Amino acid sequence: MFTNKEKFKASFAEKLMTLCGKDLLEATNLEKYQALASLLMEHINRQWLKTNQEYTENGDKQIYYFCIEFLLGRMLGSNLLNMGIKDLCEEALAELGINFAALQGEEPDAGLGNGGLGRLAACYLDSMASLHLPGHGCGIRYDYGLFEQKIIDGYQVELPDDWLKHGNPWEVRRDDRTVEVKFGGKVCTENQDGKTVYRLEDYDAVKAVPYDMPMIGFKNHTVNTLRLWKAEPARSDFDFNAFNRGEYLKATDYKNSVAAISRVLYPNDNFEAGQILRLKQEYFFASAGVQSIVNRHKRKFGSVHNLAEKVAIHINDTHPALVIPELMRLLIDEEGLFWEEAWQITTRTMSYTNHTVLPEALEKWPIDMFKKLLPRIFILVHEINERFCACMWDQYPGEWQRIRDVAITADGFVHMAHLAIAGSHSVNGVAELHTKILEKETMHKFYDFSPHKFNNKTNGITHRRWLLLANPDLARLVTSTIGHTWVHCPSELENLHKFAEDPSFQEQFAAIKQKNKEKLAKWLQDNYVVKIDPHSIFDIQIKRIHAYKRQTLNVLHIMHLYNRLKENPNLDVTPRTFIFGGKAAPGYYDAKKTIKLINTLAEVVNRDPDIRDKIKVVFAENYNVSFAELLIPAADVSEQIPTASKEACGTGNMKFMLNGAVTIGTLDGGNIEISKAVGDENIIIFGLNAREVINFYRHGGYSSWEVIHNDVRVKTVLEQLVNGFFPVVREEFRNFYEAFRHYDEFFVLRDFASYVDAQKQVQEKYRDKAKWFSMCVHNVASSGLFSSDRTFSEYALEIWNVKPNIIGEALPVFSPESLFVAGRYPEMPYVQH
Ligand SMILES: *Cc1c(COP(=O)(O)O)cnc(C)c1O
Repeated sequence: MFTNKEKFKASFAEKLMTLCGKDLLEATNLEKYQALASLLMEHINRQWLKTNQEYTENGDKQIYYFCIEFLLGRMLGSNLLNMGIKDLCEEALAELGINFAALQGEEPDAGLGNGGLGRLAACYLDSMASLHLPGHGCGIRYDYGLFEQKIIDGYQVELPDDWLKHGNPWEVRRDDRTVEVKFGGKVCTENQDGKTVYRLEDYDAVKAVPYDMPMIGFKNHTVNTLRLWKAEPARSDFDFNAFNRGEYLKATDYKNSVAAISRVLYPNDNFEAGQILRLKQEYFFASAGVQSIVNRHKRKFGSVHNLAEKVAIHINDTHPALVIPELMRLLIDEEGLFWEEAWQITTRTMSYTNHTVLPEALEKWPIDMFKKLLPRIFILVHEINERFCACMWDQYPGEWQRIRDVAITADGFVHMAHLAIAGSHSVNGVAELHTKILEKETMHKFYDFSPHKFNNKTNGITHRRWLLLANPDLARLVTSTIGHTWVHCPSELENLHKFAEDPSFQEQFAAIKQKNKEKLAKWLQDNYVVKIDPHSIFDIQIKRIHAYKRQTLNVLHIMHLYNRLKENPNLDVTPRTFIFGGKAAPGYYDAKKTIKLINTLAEVVNRDPDIRDKIKVVFAENYNVSFAELLIPAADVSEQIPTASKEACGTGNMKFMLNGAVTIGTLDGGNIEISKAVGDENIIIFGLNAREVINFYRHGGYSSWEVIHNDVRVKTVLEQLVNGFFPVVREEFRNFYEAFRHYDEFFVLRDFASYVDAQKQVQEKYRDKAKWFSMCVHNVASSGLFSSDRTFSEYALEIWNVKPNIIGEALPVFSPESLFVAGRYPEMPYVQH
């Protein structure tokens, strides 16, 4: 590799010449970025091959993480970081007069995900490689990722995300690994030696072409694979024949309908629209992925009988759940196994993570649609259902309703979560509370039937991207204070606790936070001509816009604060900048209105001379991973305020904590574990808890009427939504007004008073600088628990039964077992298989 800067500079100039035919003077930043990426890929490819050879030679168990989204962000920085040559490369480029940040700016975000789910999958790939686990991703190579968001006149406008416009230097197309996926057709059966054999005829064939991206471990010479599938027409001759017959339209129809499968990511977060194209996408990558796994396995072992010992397939949310019937199909139809053995292998191979309890997010497919698109798969699902219900019947004879509630096909639908649970040996939730809710509420009938399947794996984030890369100054300060071991073993961050009250450490921490805030302020000024005060409190809520995440609660509080300042312009308010960011699903009316509401509020507040810049409201356009890397290190306050019981876990909360922001939040999802880790005095908690919320729901919700009539502050802000307070058409925000009054489903008004008190606490605590910075530092020090390395070690040991595979020279001082040193982490549940 690059051992010194001179070598690097020479290789870079050479690459620029051979790739672009230009020298350093002439080449554009885009060309320089492409040359750099291409140069790095030469080295990555070498290591990639070695890793694969090692895995194959050792016959290691391979983990395949299936997810319909991977929200990777940019790769240049994290690849250099993980290769261990980021500083060398940046310095060498500087010596050539090239600004590294400018090259980085040329890389578009790989935005193949909506939010938390896809970003989680990306963090896990980073951890798997960094823990030497033979773990690979499997997904879809969308031509267009999540839309680009523009704000025009306060409204969200969606633009296509043409992320492949200049190609993707981090991928390799693998034509030799192409497989065929079959849609439609009819199932024919025939009797062979007393056995019924199934064959699909008159189907539409689609070619699935894999594009592999290297997933590089942190300084450990491991390169795993993210395999993303692209849909292409299977038969090019079909087109020509059709053209020859003059059927131009039919020919292009076919091509278009095939290409549509991997054309665009569905832009919904926590919501399923039930479109047939989505079902096609799901079967497309499930089938292609499973086929390529079985092919590899057979190349190595020559048989499928030991598949479950050598392969683990993980189903991340229900979108990939068709891997279950697809593996059954391959084992029975192609490999000739009997049902019992095929089912044994399948259930021992599969494991499933549930990500939500929101009913609108639980996938179900109309049986008619399913049957027509996937006739053979439907027969298998039907048979799985019959056998599963029969087992239930044995345990609960006569309990029709119970069996109907767990059936995979019922009420005219295929229930994907039921399929995923029935076909997996492990089902996990993503935070302690979420898992409890699954076990005791949403999935309790499955839990009663097979409690041993259920377990919890609290989400995590990679501290490499979210601290080392995003906040290098803070990372350096941590290392110079407690040494470098935390980089391999993030739980070592605990050693920072003893510096939390140290004035000189606080001073250094504060200087870094201030620098990050100034960097963000300058960026907003340069890009959006928004002026914010870098000495104000940066209070940030960035995440998808969703009613349950309650951006509206934040808005109502700002309106209230504004009202108080109008009443008394001399009110003693610490200047605060409220920053919002996030995309709304294009078809989600209330979410889009929320964006308009925030922008309208910004107009009112920011322009009012009475306010004298004491409060500012900013909507950060086009929130994505790269923007998050700029925003989070600059945050003082992290807004994590969903209705308790609704946010399965969250990961944004963890990124803020790692960067030393103080959380104001509800006792929901991961917030509960964050508050346990940092202690009550280092977090600000408010609002109803999950038990209270669930109790209200049991009794038909709560009445907001009382709250409105007993709290004049609530009444005032509510009326302001419709009384001309905002410079918009009068009815613009009536939807919120009516909803809050008639059915405040997410307890916004109910939690208002408690939230206002909590915000007062934020201000009081912030004013005591010594206290505030000690809170910040305790947050960083307690955040090691939320490293995805911890999460993934738990998945590996407790679900997949995989031990890390140590390769290369630079052995890390970290091994997953070291997490289990007595007392380091509380309550590791043991999971039986
Ligand atoms: C982390 C992250 C999310 C998830 O944020 P939550 O606050 O957990 O909902 C969404 N989008 C991006 C770009 C992220 O980086």
